[in-house]
Amino acid sequence: MEEKIKVGVSSCLLGNQVRYDGGHKRDRYITDVLAGYFQFIPVCPEVECGLPVPRETMHLSGNPEVPRLITTKSGIDHTEKMQQFCNNKASILRQENLCAFIFKKDSPSSGLHRVKVYGRSGQAQKKGRGLFAAAVVNHFPLLPVEEEGRLHDATLRENFIERIYCYNRWLLFTENSPDYKKLIQFHRQHKLQLMAHSPKHLSAMGKLVAAGKNMATDKLLEQYQLYLMEAMALKATTKKNINVLYHIMGHFKNFLTGDEKAELLEIIENYNRSIVPLVVPLTLISHYVRKYDISYLQDQAYLEPHPAELMLRNHV
Ligand code: SF4
Repeated sequence: MEEKIKVGVSSCLLGNQVRYDGGHKRDRYITDVLAGYFQFIPVCPEVECGLPVPRETMHLSGNPEVPRLITTKSGIDHTEKMQQFCNNKASILRQENLCAFIFKKDSPSSGLHRVKVYGRSGQAQKKGRGLFAAAVVNHFPLLPVEEEGRLHDATLRENFIERIYCYNRWLLFTENSPDYKKLIQFHRQHKLQLMAHSPKHLSAMGKLVAAGKNMATDKLLEQYQLYLMEAMALKATTKKNINVLYHIMGHFKNFLTGDEKAELLEIIENYNRSIVPLVVPLTLISHYVRKYDISYLQDQAYLEPHPAELMLRNHV
């Protein structure tokens, strides 16, 4: 059986009763859908750094760039305790080969974006990041990270999960004695996917791969993975997808009958007008790729970037 991709997750999102009040924040999309595809590695930084359940609430305080973690009533500073835990936990998580992390929003320990940081006046600015979330981002800068709340947005969800699968393919590639020839193959398989996310990165990566013959392999791979994950973090918009769809059409325009061409053009236009989701033109394209046996397109990651059952391309 294929091993499931490992994803770190804030423990309370799985339904574990680790919150300050003894409760949880189970997220059904994570536990009922994503759990079928990923092996979750739960982390509750507050409990794992030694705080009890239940416990006093905490918030971030001071400079939003380097906030302190303070209990709200008694004013106890848990910053050092949490930072020490974060450093130890980062070494443990490194062994896990995580492909992503899903954080609980708004938490002074686990929140990734716009966490409240209180100033001396008692006013809060939504400019902080939870201490554990910040440590994960610092230790694993390429790792796809997201908050559970944002996964309820269809476009953000699609982008995040696509990044997870892409990162997993990259890690598998790097574990399998990577060399220049294999990188050319990896790059070829990801061209259309990169084009859908960032034509600018695709062009830079093409130049890098071309120049890579004369580079040390580790330097080449290091630069390539930076470009890869930077590109994948950019959203594949309708306009960029349309560009890819027309590019794909160019590969089999000589094979299609007049009727087939007209039908495909009409469906691409319907996608452009948000009448049908991306999965519709891509289903027809996959059919033609099989029917006409277009080998260049057969192994493009763009046509199957993640399991179809997740239905990530079914939104308009
Ligand atoms: S948000 Fe983070 S620290 Fe708070 S209960 Fe959930 S996992 Fe623990």
